[in-house]
Amino acid sequence: MNDKSIYIIGAGISGLVAAIELEKAGYYPVILEAEDRIGGRIKTDEVDGYLLDQGFQVLLTAYPEIHRYLDLDKLELKKFKPGAVIFRPDATFAIHDPLRNPLKGFSMAFSNIGSLWDKVKLFTLIKNLKEKQIDTIFTSPQTTTLEYLNKLGFSKKIIENFFAPFFKGIFLETSLATSSRMFEFVFKMFAEGHAAVPAKGMGQVAQQLFENLEHTQIRFNTTVAGLKKNQIELADGNTITADDIILATTHNKLTGQGEAEFHQVTNLYFTLQHSFIGKAMIGLVTDEKFLINNLTFMTDVSPHYASDGRALLSVSVVKNVEELENLEELIALELQVLSGIKASYFKHVKTYTISKALPQIKDLKNWMPYQHTKLYDHVHLAGDYMLNGSINAAMTSGRLAAEAVIAGD
Ligand SMILES: Cc1cc2nc3c(=O)[nH]c(=O)nc-3n(C[C@H](O)[C@H](O)[C@H](O)COP(=O)(O)OP(=O)(O)OC[C@H]3O[C@@H](n4cnc5c(N)ncnc54)[C@H](O)[C@@H]3O)c2cc1C
Repeated sequence: MNDKSIYIIGAGISGLVAAIELEKAGYYPVILEAEDRIGGRIKTDEVDGYLLDQGFQVLLTAYPEIHRYLDLDKLELKKFKPGAVIFRPDATFAIHDPLRNPLKGFSMAFSNIGSLWDKVKLFTLIKNLKEKQIDTIFTSPQTTTLEYLNKLGFSKKIIENFFAPFFKGIFLETSLATSSRMFEFVFKMFAEGHAAVPAKGMGQVAQQLFENLEHTQIRFNTTVAGLKKNQIELADGNTITADDIILATTHNKLTGQGEAEFHQVTNLYFTLQHSFIGKAMIGLVTDEKFLINNLTFMTDVSPHYASDGRALLSVSVVKNVEELENLEELIALELQVLSGIKASYFKHVKTYTISKALPQIKDLKNWMPYQHTKLYDHVHLAGDYMLNGSINAAMTSGRLAAEAVIAGD
């Protein structure tokens, strides 16, 4: 055992991974967590027998870092079928596998979202990205995703009918202003692996990391109010002196670097007697006038998401709807238009407004030398905002901060 006192602030993915790495090196770290549970931005609630992920999110099986820390078999991953169901005012149709083999066969559905020329470009893009190393992606010149797609010559039709709703739901912003590096990274991950959720909800990702810890103490309901050198000031007035600190939180207030900015999302859950999609696919709403961006019947992906046999529907709204008082009714009306099923049949379960969902990062990275996690002597930083807004990055950042502490740098 190494008896250095190491404190990690935050029990999200980055903090849990930091603890795993420190344990491997013989340390007994302590995690201080403001909330009463682990997981940070990855949590699953159980409400009336339904599993509700706090915000629709998926694990991409091609993420390199998850293979270091997660036993995917144990998570009983349930995969989405590649592709999407496109909801347009004039038609609803499924596009199968556009990111893997766009040239395979002649799909009538594809002609609804783009031209043959778009298909060829998609094929070329996928081929190029499969050959491009992740580190090369994150050091390539960057532009906005929209500019990038325009430059590649994709038609307005495929951008509006596929890329825009798909990536708005991933980037959680409506203008595709997110860096092309993130687009390339996510697109590569979708093309090389599967989108999936653990059978019993995304919270299982954090839970599995937590269960791997043997010598880490977690103090819940413990908010850190400030840091002075290696002294941790708690909100209750107490002070802790640590040998080393890893600050694995979402915001930079404690670091004195100012608050990071975030994209937000509103996630609503409804139940219905039966799914109107009927397959494990994400539904995309292309019409800008709708509030709904994307929708998924979680029970089509994993039946464990509902205990009463009803279909559990997750709806994501990327537009800012904070001011709307009757949001649930409006969304139920939109669902009626999209599905032809009466609004009153959609039973609202819960709405989550996640104001700090994804950090807005100017200089996206995949990795950094561990020395760069140092804030000042004995204090290191972790968190997705250090690299890019993904589970993969949160894990990498936690590992790097731990490596720095272990190396004494
Ligand atoms: C709606 C949504 C959708 C997403 N979709 C995806 C997706 O599909 N795929 C993907 O890869 N990623 C997705 N992400 C991103 C992914 O969830 C995050 O990158 C990851 O969870 C971040 O982990 P973290 O440890 O960096 O931060 P956090 O999870 O934010 O953890 C920080 C922890 O620190 C604690 N804390 C904060 N301040 C203090 C304090 N002062 N004192 C003590 N404790 C404190 C917090 O309570 C929290 O537990 C999504 C995120 C959201 C919210």
